[in-house]
Amino acid sequence: MAVLVLGGAGYIGSHTVDRLVEQGQDVVVVDSLVTGHKAAVRPEAKFYQGDLADKPFMRKVFSENPEIDAVIHFAAFSLVAESMKDPLKYFDNNTAGMVKLLEVMHEFNVNYIVFSSTAATYGIPEKMPIKEDDPQNPINPYGESKLMMEKIMRWADQAYGVKFVALRYFNVAGAKPDGSIGEDHHPETHLLPIVLQVAQGKREKLQIFGNDYNTPDGTNVRDYVHPFDLADAHILAVDYLRKGNESNAFNLGSSTGFSNLEIVEAARDVTGKPIPAEMAPRRGGDPDSLIACSDKARKVLGWKPQFDDIHKIIETAWAWHSTHPNGYDDK
Ligand code: UDP
Repeated sequence: MAVLVLGGAGYIGSHTVDRLVEQGQDVVVVDSLVTGHKAAVRPEAKFYQGDLADKPFMRKVFSENPEIDAVIHFAAFSLVAESMKDPLKYFDNNTAGMVKLLEVMHEFNVNYIVFSSTAATYGIPEKMPIKEDDPQNPINPYGESKLMMEKIMRWADQAYGVKFVALRYFNVAGAKPDGSIGEDHHPETHLLPIVLQVAQGKREKLQIFGNDYNTPDGTNVRDYVHPFDLADAHILAVDYLRKGNESNAFNLGSSTGFSNLEIVEAARDVTGKPIPAEMAPRRGGDPDSLIACSDKARKVLGWKPQFDDIHKIIETAWAWHSTHPNGYDDK
């Protein structure tokens, strides 16, 4: 038995590979290194550079590693704003890529896949916290591309028996507490890394996108979860499929919402830096609030997130950013 991690050199993928290796599992990683970093991958994992939509390449990976019985799929583009500007990039890479992947998995009789879905599949939620069977009406192409991937997997399950778990993440923040791996995007667009770059003096100030949302302080409210807790959920989901359970979808969040202003305040506490911030216009495609109900993952998968305090999450992110001001380029 071995797990193939697609996108294992990315932010959440590298934390999952780290956890799998720590557990002594056999791990094969595929990453195109378009957004991932080779230095983020544990050397114990067998690494292939390539694109999951390249069927001859993926056939080589599966033929050389016949012990692979499960795939964890992180390899997707994930920026809301970019997806609004260039939707076809998302439908091609994310959605069409999934079709190619499932074709090759089916050829090689690999029947388990755990897949990174997203809170963005829900669009503007009717009620909070969001439950798995709430309506999914995405308001940006990123969320739409992932919802299409979920639907494709449902039909592939029905026709070919490829069982899946879709994990719908909320906002991800934090890093391995020893500061050895973390978040490194070029360009960086995510709130917490940008806040911490301001704390480091790498940026002059933070722009907060919109303060006229329907939330207590007018800024967006998001639910933050640590990549190690996400990693554990993926590993539990692989176990769940290996035990012969049916395909399923789970929300992964902390079930607590923090506004953008509250995140800046918490980061000021953790870093002791002033972190100047100014209000800026809304960014397209942002719903007012997104808070997960994660009861189902806790009950069915036995998921127990360890990082339940936003200060703790920010401390781990700070451990990474303060030791790697230029990300993996510092190596
Ligand atoms: N955000 C912001 N300033 C920034 C980056 C992000 O105000 O420089 C806001 C963004 O509008 C959203 C929240 O921070 O309300 C989280 O955005 P992020 O891009 O981190 O994650 P997303 O919610 O898009 O997955």
